[in-house]
Amino acid sequence: MSREEGGAGLRFECTECGDCCRRRGSYAFVYINDAEVDALAEHLDLTRRSFMRRHTFLDELGWRQLRFDDAACRFLDAETNKCTVYEARPTQCRTFPFWRDFVEKSEWTPEVQQICEGIGEGDAWPADVVEATMAEKEAWDDE
Ligand code: SF4
Ligand code: SF4
Repeated sequence: MSREEGGAGLRFECTECGDCCRRRGSYAFVYINDAEVDALAEHLDLTRRSFMRRHTFLDELGWRQLRFDDAACRFLDAETNKCTVYEARPTQCRTFPFWRDFVEKSEWTPEVQQICEGIGEGDAWPADVVEATMAEKEAWDDE
């Protein structure tokens, strides 16, 4: 995504607090599809099978998720709050917080404002970029 000063869309600037990569109560889900498994396995120089065994599990509905180590995603560097697989991070991570569920009538929902301290910060993202990112996440959800 790119951003333009004075855009008409939603304001957001990541502070790199890392909270979106940490467990929130009982919520700790990063879903990944086959292409994302391949990208992460290649990034980590692992075979697909080895990556899946070490870093993922199938939930009760058959969806594949990244394993969390207690409080955080295992790919979060706890000291720097950086994603250690940034270039290959899944769509869910790459598109956050521009998810349709978090935007109502062109405003951020209270829910996402509680999750992410970057909401409402910085310049506005252009509405077309916001829409395209939400659409990308939605298309991924529907796969
Ligand atoms: S919670 Fe928001 S501000 Fe914090 S790292 Fe995630 S996107 Fe950035
Ligand atoms: S893969 Fe990276 S961006 Fe996604 S939850 Fe884990 S640490 Fe955060």
